[in-house]
Amino acid sequence: MSNSNEIMDPYLDASQIAARIASLGRSITEVGAGPSPLVVVCVLKGSFMFFADLVRQIDLPTNLVFLGVSSYGGATESSGAVRLTHDLTLDIRDRDVLIVEDIVDTGLTMSYLLDILRARAPRSLRVCTLLHKPARKRVDVPLDYVGFTIDDVFVVGYGLDYDERYRNVPYIGVLRFA
Ligand code: 5GP
Repeated sequence: MSNSNEIMDPYLDASQIAARIASLGRSITEVGAGPSPLVVVCVLKGSFMFFADLVRQIDLPTNLVFLGVSSYGGATESSGAVRLTHDLTLDIRDRDVLIVEDIVDTGLTMSYLLDILRARAPRSLRVCTLLHKPARKRVDVPLDYVGFTIDDVFVVGYGLDYDERYRNVPYIGVLRFA
């Protein structure tokens, strides 16, 4: 699973994650639907697993769409410069939109995504992130739903990668280098 000098210490186990997602799904469901199905945006690649689990807990009509983003920069640091690798295949004008992200760290990526999607004039735009790392905040972004607020640690698993590995691990761990 890991390279010999990388150690993944358990941080959030699969049952904790599942319980939190059930609760997030209930909160999203309670707000209800607008005139058309809720557009739920999966921000690839990191949120694919969270997205798959979350949408199954949302009891509303939905349209599911995928947005590919790739951040420039090192393996463990976001530079804030983001490149769209796959655009939405649906027009979100006048639609209720929920962005589903794996982690908000500095906030730069989410701020960029909000700018892009706001420019398309949705009826509403909300954000759901599984993880929030407030210690490293550089820009304020409105987060409507947060799964877990975490310490300033580098996490992998449950969709999150280090150098494209660990995405398939079913829980979240802190990566350290021995
Ligand atoms: P931000 O732009 O908020 O600083 O960072 C957002 C992106 O940086 C995330 O979507 C993710 O790709 C990456 N990132 C930030 N913190 C972590 C972390 O602890 N682990 C992993 N695997 N990626 C992270």
